Amino acid sequence: MHNLSSPGGAASGIRLVGFDADDTLWRSEDYFAAAQHEFERIIGGYIDLDNARARERLLAIEKGNLALFGYGVKGMALSMIEAAVDITAQRVSAHDLHRIVAIAKDMLRHPVELLPDVREAVEAVAREHAVVLITKGDLFHQEAKVRQSGLADLFGRIEIVSEKDDTTYHRVLGEFDLAPAQFCMVGNSLRSDIAPVLRLGGWAVHVPYHLTWEHEREAEIDQSAADRWREIAGIGALPAAVHGLDKAAIARG
Ligand SMILES: [Mg+2]
Repeated sequence: MHNLSSPGGAASGIRLVGFDADDTLWRSEDYFAAAQHEFERIIGGYIDLDNARARERLLAIEKGNLALFGYGVKGMALSMIEAAVDITAQRVSAHDLHRIVAIAKDMLRHPVELLPDVREAVEAVAREHAVVLITKGDLFHQEAKVRQSGLADLFGRIEIVSEKDDTTYHRVLGEFDLAPAQFCMVGNSLRSDIAPVLRLGGWAVHVPYHLTWEHEREAEIDQSAADRWREIAGIGALPAAVHGLDKAAIARG
């Protein structure tokens, strides 16, 4: 359905570049960290935060709820309410639960803040390759962010998925009729953007963000994939990194 074959008939090399969105193109985790801080301030009125291991208990509840709520702000808010009730032994007031809901609403209304050099980097890569945006989270929120970002016109297609794992990437590549070796993924999360694509046999560029949710840092990358991915300090270095990987991909045939 998406014919990416080039007129010259060259079949090798990287044909499609996937971009993560949150903390790769625009800020996201900063707001989650601020929300976490505000959550601790609220329940700190009831208990000693350190003794209650509030942070670990919230993380455990969030991770336990991922399969039910999925990623994103709304799932975070429900987990915070559950954690507030649990950690305060049901003493948390309706007023404070309402403050937690307000944190989520503020996050959902927050304007999109593009990271530096993003537009130029995506434009440069898009001149050489087809590009697709692959992001997870609340469908409604992600659609709004894509719209506000001003980047929607650069992407041939936008995929909002519930999980970024081997199965999802396999499906997306199937829709483009591409082999993993013809695909390169760009993102800040080793767990969601880098490891699954390398496992399938694809290429990847890791752009670390200064803040990354603990869950997204948990990933194991096999040493045998070492020459199929690069880490860059900022997205400004992306066009050169993709170019280098593309040359390596062509050399492999
Ligand atoms: Mg991300």
